[in-house]
Amino acid sequence: MTRVSFDYLRQRAEGASCVAQAWAELPEPLAPARRQALLDQLTRRLKSGEAVLIAHYYTDGDLQDLALASGGCVSDSLEMARFGRDHPAQTLIVAGVRFMGETAKILSPGKRVLMPDLDATCSLDLGCPAEDFARFCDEHPDRQVVVYANTSAAVKARADWMVTSSCALPIVRHLKDAGHKILWAPDKHLGRYIADETGADMLLWQGACIVHDEFKGVELELLKREHPDAMVLVHPESPEAVVALADVVGSTSRLLKAVVEGTAQTYIVATDNGLMHRMRQLAPGKTLIEAPTAGSSATCKSCAHCPWMAMNSLQGVLQCLDHGRGEIHLEEDVRAKALGCIERMLEFTARAGVTSSAGSAGFVPKIGAA
Ligand code: SF4
Repeated sequence: MTRVSFDYLRQRAEGASCVAQAWAELPEPLAPARRQALLDQLTRRLKSGEAVLIAHYYTDGDLQDLALASGGCVSDSLEMARFGRDHPAQTLIVAGVRFMGETAKILSPGKRVLMPDLDATCSLDLGCPAEDFARFCDEHPDRQVVVYANTSAAVKARADWMVTSSCALPIVRHLKDAGHKILWAPDKHLGRYIADETGADMLLWQGACIVHDEFKGVELELLKREHPDAMVLVHPESPEAVVALADVVGSTSRLLKAVVEGTAQTYIVATDNGLMHRMRQLAPGKTLIEAPTAGSSATCKSCAHCPWMAMNSLQGVLQCLDHGRGEIHLEEDVRAKALGCIERMLEFTARAGVTSSAGSAGFVPKIGAA
């Protein structure tokens, strides 16, 4: 294991934010023969129905390929939870970060939800501790509490609404039209983008994704000049200066769809580079360029790859199958309260005809799924 540490933004209940440190332990690369043997063994066992593997687009390419080859799925966070809920398997192995396993458990309480590494977390989740968040909400009782999917079950339990980027704009517009002011958490960049688009009165929690926060507007502008015909694809967790240069602003699913269906030959992509694996598979003839970050002189977190997503490994999946490693447990009252804000979102999107698939982009022009 290689241990790395990172700074991330953490807000306190009274509103001030500070920088805190977190760590991630990255698995050692496997020798080619061991890797192939593991892939063969895991494919066989997953195909036999022992469990289903559900992987996020940002995980290692081997895990994504294993999920698809064994009847699982590779997707964004909401589709991962929906797939797990609707799949007949009673054991779900969620390759991603902690809040994704928790969301799967919230929607599938009767199933066993396992994760290759329970310590794989997210700076948005870490930066929004449930107790501080609850006190912050208590200080603003006049606001509807709307949280992004990248939060713990305990934070969702305190929220009125959970949203993904596929439905954030219509839900916030709906709340604004009903005369509500909003308390938004945890991503400050996504919150600012939604506030700009809707004109809603939004009080923003000051969290950030350590991967997307590193993309740089000035360097992106220079790169655009070198590739004038390239289409620029940006995830809305990126800073405002980066979003301003985008041809397409959207989630993982939306950016993937833009590459697959786009007529351009070259794409500059500002999101975790784990998504490139699926982009290359689905659009093999196209040229993909990573958007610039703080550069080689900066810390490892500027590598455009989430260190916590990188904690997921084939060895971890084997541990799940052999030993039931990484089981998600939630207090029932927390789970039930968290389910409330997710169900509210699902009911709204069903009524409004919004789906979380990339195909929903027509409803929310610049944003796709979570
Ligand atoms: S890429 Fe960012 S938002 Fe996604 S899990 Fe990692 S830290 Fe969280």
